[in-house]
Amino acid sequence: MSEHLTLVQVEESLLELGLKRSADLVAASAEWATANNATYLDFLARLLEAEKEERYNRYLQTRLKLAHFPYQKTLADFEFGFQPSIDERQIRELSQMAFVHDGSNVILLGPPGVGKTHLAISLGMEAIRQRISVYFVSMQALVSDLRKAYNENRLDRRLRVYTKPKLLICDEVGYLPLDAVDAANFFRLVSERYEHGAMIITSNTSYANWGHLFGDQVLATALLDRLLHHATTINIRGNSYRMREKLRTGVVHVVSETDK
Ligand code: ADP
Ligand code: MG
Repeated sequence: MSEHLTLVQVEESLLELGLKRSADLVAASAEWATANNATYLDFLARLLEAEKEERYNRYLQTRLKLAHFPYQKTLADFEFGFQPSIDERQIRELSQMAFVHDGSNVILLGPPGVGKTHLAISLGMEAIRQRISVYFVSMQALVSDLRKAYNENRLDRRLRVYTKPKLLICDEVGYLPLDAVDAANFFRLVSERYEHGAMIITSNTSYANWGHLFGDQVLATALLDRLLHHATTINIRGNSYRMREKLRTGVVHVVSETDK
């Protein structure tokens, strides 16, 4: 059989086997092998590496979509120098994901704009890179979704969306106080994840105020008990990064000038 016909046959076989990247690259790789005196194994290794890389990238794209991040930011985008109350080493260690494998929690506390959501997303993206399933939801969206399911008598089924991922990120706990049903639904979720699935929670409300937040001190205590039993709390005390951006672009300066 001519070399060309063999190539066509190989490309078709690769496509039939679902190895699209290899089909695209096989001709160029064969040329490369001839030009470089590469062995059969070198040739095959090169092709398989490209196929694996392509699959991994596809996997990342799919998982990133499924995670529902509001935006994508990585630890590389985070300026640790701006927020000295954060221990960079501790965040790097968390990014190794031992806490996820242990089913423990990370709670990021601090005022608005200090990078809580950014860090939560970064850790979530790193988890996905390490093939951990992640789901991101804001507290507001979570409680209203659970409330709807509760009203329609399908809370058990709906809870699975939030109990199944290995890592659940719940953003902005504490911006709104909860009524008794919402508080009970959230408590149920935390109880079901307890010691099985890790959570990252961000909040601007210190633990002392969670009683008020959940409208019930007993429930808040039971909730904190489960959340904090295996948890790392990161207290961020510092300035808003958003404000820094404004200072840099002169918006704040201009406003104070006109205020005079
Ligand atoms: P929070 O959730 O604490 O209110 P965000 O994480 O939403 O704050 O941060 C506000 C904005 O500032 C985001 O765009 C975020 O990427 C950015 N940001 C915050 N802190 C930092 C930082 N230390 N380095 C780089 N960007 C930051
Ligand atoms: Mg936030």
